[in-house]
Amino acid sequence: MDDERREIHNGAILVQNNVIKVVGTTEELPKVGSEVLDLQGRYVVMPGMVNTHHHFYQVLTRVITPDGTLFPWLKSLYPIWKNMRSTDIYLSAKLAAAELLLSGCTTSSDHLYILPNDCRIDDEIRALADIGMRFTAVRGSMSIGESDGGLPPDNVVETIPAILKDSQRIIEEHHDNSRHSMIRVALGPCSPFTVTVDAMSESAKLIEDYEGVRLHTHLAENADDIAYMKEKYGARPAEWTESLGWLSDKVWHAHCVHLDDTDIGMFAKAGTGAAHCPASNMRLASGAAPIRAMRDAGMRVGLGVDGSASNDTSNMLQEARLALLLARVREVSVDGMTAREAIEIATRGGAEVLGRDDIGYPTPGMSADFIAVDTHRNEFVGAHADPVAALVLCQTDHVDYSFVNGRKVVDQGRLTTVDYDLLAKQTRAAAIALVS
Ligand SMILES: [Zn+2]
Repeated sequence: MDDERREIHNGAILVQNNVIKVVGTTEELPKVGSEVLDLQGRYVVMPGMVNTHHHFYQVLTRVITPDGTLFPWLKSLYPIWKNMRSTDIYLSAKLAAAELLLSGCTTSSDHLYILPNDCRIDDEIRALADIGMRFTAVRGSMSIGESDGGLPPDNVVETIPAILKDSQRIIEEHHDNSRHSMIRVALGPCSPFTVTVDAMSESAKLIEDYEGVRLHTHLAENADDIAYMKEKYGARPAEWTESLGWLSDKVWHAHCVHLDDTDIGMFAKAGTGAAHCPASNMRLASGAAPIRAMRDAGMRVGLGVDGSASNDTSNMLQEARLALLLARVREVSVDGMTAREAIEIATRGGAEVLGRDDIGYPTPGMSADFIAVDTHRNEFVGAHADPVAALVLCQTDHVDYSFVNGRKVVDQGRLTTVDYDLLAKQTRAAAIALVS
């Protein structure tokens, strides 16, 4: 996934501290390492994947309303989510991050837009630091309750001054814009049907004072979403976002299923990104995003698993496979997406969407984020002709090794930074207490 898209046989990587120093063949590498991981010529080593859209807390509420579309599904969930506490945010974030790391993701964003009771986004920032994952924390919000014509109940929305005050606090306490940074911050009023335009435009103004802070929201997810925007604002998604300062290279939008060619052209010109979430779009019957047209127009496209209440998993390898298959169904053509394009969207595509030039592909000077998959595993029998395409064409769901910022976080398929079974047990207890 470097600029030449090289695939190096008998390849090797030299890492010093948290940075990649040399990439080449094993013979070319200087013999200076103090620690050697010998992958015996049977692994594919590739850049760590980048997840551009998630709601970690939804781990606690999987498969609620399994057969609903977006609006009824959301309405069934708000009354449960409003009872969450700080511990729920911490545990669910850590469990979602564990699933992501095991499935090859080394950097994730998370959009936390509901902060009831004592919940704070600091809870998930702490969880991701504890497990050792690179993170973009999106401080989300909702400001239009039911009584004002919005979708969420009044008791889960916040006032705009409160949103802006906490957004500023989060940026100043946590945002690190340095190269190889492990934590960056974005602001994310939730969606056109849950926030006022003031929350959108004021957030856009706030980030101007902070280098590297980005904006993120949900956009054009399904036909109802488009109809709501047309009726309330008389606008298409690109015009509407442009009017609020949300059409720029500091912005990425989740879904973008129903962008038309004009929207796509405006997004591409502005450098605005999309987080493509194929599993969620299929699960909620939202549609199939025009990824071929976006890529052809030069638009930034990354991959996202979306929240665990609409996927209902956090598996990046499987998401890349679904992206590939869905694009071919949509276009009724293998040109809808190639196997290597699916991997590209999941890696450097996501890095571009999150505005990072230090991750997404392993080349000297980049952060040491990479993964390795053993191609001699049972599910790859017969797939030796093209082990790279096998990663997305065969049904595989986990990596054997994962390094984040030079640290081995997955070793022989097991997490090194957390007791996964104990974490799952604790999170299950929290989920049962919440949904009962
Ligand atoms: Zn979402």
